[in-house]
Amino acid sequence: MQLVRLIYVSVMTEACDTTALQRILEVSRTKNTARKITGVLCYDPSFFLQCLEGPKDTVNALYGDIVRDVRHKDVTLLEYVTVEEREFGAWSMAFVHASTIDKQVLEKHTQGLRFDPFELSSEQANDFLVDVAHHTSRHMAAQR
Ligand code: FAD
Repeated sequence: MQLVRLIYVSVMTEACDTTALQRILEVSRTKNTARKITGVLCYDPSFFLQCLEGPKDTVNALYGDIVRDVRHKDVTLLEYVTVEEREFGAWSMAFVHASTIDKQVLEKHTQGLRFDPFELSSEQANDFLVDVAHHTSRHMAAQR
């Protein structure tokens, strides 16, 4: 079984109100666990930046559904690679609102410039999401 990592960025549409976003979070956690998909979804009112990792056929099928979803548009593939192991194995889908990203993490990846996820290279997108997910998880653990 080939394991792949896919990263895309998209623009949130008006169809994605709070209820719709909540539905995405619930469906993702349930379905991704059943499909052995892991990853992270970083979002704010204007964009989604998501990494999906898991078995190739399963990730491909889910990405097909996601691309057709009207709750976002301008879906742009940033990375699609075969990997040996998962970066986000601990999360069926880590959800991170962009406003909660640590300032130092943001500064490291933007060097003071405005954050535009569409401008990220595949490597930058992966590094950013790894930092965001791991920092958020450490922060939550420290709060317990
Ligand atoms: P349901 O939520 O029941 O949706 C059924 C259909 O209705 C789908 O076609 C859906 O696109 C559409 N729909 C549902 N709610 C709305 C709404 N409020 N407005 C317009 N159309 C709607 N799914 C996962 O399983 N895992 C993920 O990691 C994942 N990540 C996503 C990330 C983003 C940015 C978006 C926009 C969607 C994501 N989804 C994810 C949802 C995915 O696109 C499919 O909707 C979902 O997998 C289908 O499951 P369902 O039939 O149970 O969903």
